[in-house]
Amino acid sequence: MGEATPSIHEFDFELICDYFANMERQGPGSPEATIKALSFVDHLTSASRIADVGCGTGGQTMVMAQQTPGQVVGVDLFPRFIERFNVNARQLNLQDRVTGIVGSMERLPFEEEGLDLIWSEGAIYNIGFERGLNEWRTFLKSGGYIAVSEATWFTAERPEEIDRFWREAYAEIDTIPNKVERLQKAGYIPIAAFVLPESCWTEHFYVPQVSAEKRFLEKHAGQQAAEALVANQRHEAQLYHRYKQFYGYAFYIGKKI
Ligand code: SAH
Repeated sequence: MGEATPSIHEFDFELICDYFANMERQGPGSPEATIKALSFVDHLTSASRIADVGCGTGGQTMVMAQQTPGQVVGVDLFPRFIERFNVNARQLNLQDRVTGIVGSMERLPFEEEGLDLIWSEGAIYNIGFERGLNEWRTFLKSGGYIAVSEATWFTAERPEEIDRFWREAYAEIDTIPNKVERLQKAGYIPIAAFVLPESCWTEHFYVPQVSAEKRFLEKHAGQQAAEALVANQRHEAQLYHRYKQFYGYAFYIGKKI
């Protein structure tokens, strides 16, 4: 390896958007995992208010919304993802109760104690797990739920190469017991934690990227930054295949005390 690959965060926003905008998901996950996480959330009604933070183009939002009553607002920083989100909602005839808005997870546009559920798949790392749990809690009603998926170590120890990769990419990656403890310390009852199956990374994330990469490289032919971004994604996929017994994503569901 030797040469450090840049983290995805170092690429131009436009380029990242272009890479991901046509994909159903922008992070690991699956409809089955979304539905499973939702099964731990009780008491949702048509009056419930739900936010999906870092919703991307809304693949998981639409699955969630189709399985539950209530008003759902998706929030994402990138206007292009939100445009796509709202097209998706209309296509599924969900536009009356599912809306995407441009906004930041660092300044969520909700009332204090206004939400029954905060959802966030593969996105809380942008603000950090602990900070997100603490700050977003303000917007939840007491008894409201949070459900987030997050990068997780499966073992107490792991090979140096993958340890270093994650320390640089996202130092808050941690083991399940430590993440659950964080959840508890932030003022939630830990309701459930489960590991996302491998297919959430392969079939639902890395496999669709292969054809997306081809289109992306054709469109940005000769552009070094675009080639570097693809190389970066491929490197991540290779690391995943090599070290998947040591890390992955887990879903954490908590209930505000
Ligand atoms: N939840 C989606 C997308 C995950 S990728 C899925 O599971 O497919 C992470 C998402 O977080 C991206 O869409 C990115 O645009 C968004 N994001 C990054 N920083 C953000 C911020 N500060 N506020 C809101 N969204 C942000």
